[in-house]
Amino acid sequence: MARYTGADCRQCRREGTKLFLKGDRCFSAKCAITRRSDATGPKKPGQHGAGRKKVTEYGTQLREKQKAKRIYGLCEKQFHMYYEKAERMRGVTGANMLILLERRLDNVVYRMGMGVSRSQARQLVSHRHITVNGKLINIPSYIVNAGDVIAVKDSKKDNAFFTALKETKKAGNMPKWLDFNPETLEGKILAVPTREDIDLSIEERMIVELYSK
Ligand code: SF4
Repeated sequence: MARYTGADCRQCRREGTKLFLKGDRCFSAKCAITRRSDATGPKKPGQHGAGRKKVTEYGTQLREKQKAKRIYGLCEKQFHMYYEKAERMRGVTGANMLILLERRLDNVVYRMGMGVSRSQARQLVSHRHITVNGKLINIPSYIVNAGDVIAVKDSKKDNAFFTALKETKKAGNMPKWLDFNPETLEGKILAVPTREDIDLSIEERMIVELYSK
């Protein structure tokens, strides 16, 4: 399954907003969105970037979908599967889709602060560092449930990466549906998130409109 392998910052510049794909750098003056913005906003990548002006309704919906897809680091096929799954669920399709994405194990590991970005969190999962309820899970798309205990595998807790995490990690702005203890490197899913718990400025309604055409 083809995944985007180009520069992360270019994706932010294309969407004209920070997608927070590179950890601490995103909050520093080195952020490409900060560096390459002028009075009209962030400069789009490419030779004709500055010239792209007129955006159709389809274009707006497409950009919203691309933004969400890029934030969660998924390819089109994977992303569309979440839409299809959400459509079969009860409730509002767009909200259900975002909630499913938020419940991915790689996202939860990121939200708990074990990885500085979703891509780093995905590596931690796929490189067999993370357990769910005591069982090793190396599938980033694994969907967590309320009550699940997410932890660093015992044999990995002493490696340099996690030792540094124990020393530097402070109780941060953890979403209220999650709990994480940096001392024990263990966290818990307190509840399944609601749309209000997801602090992303994505208009999921537009994505649903795009896919339901
Ligand atoms: Fe996006 Fe982060 Fe790069 Fe800034 S530093 S452009 S937020 S990936």
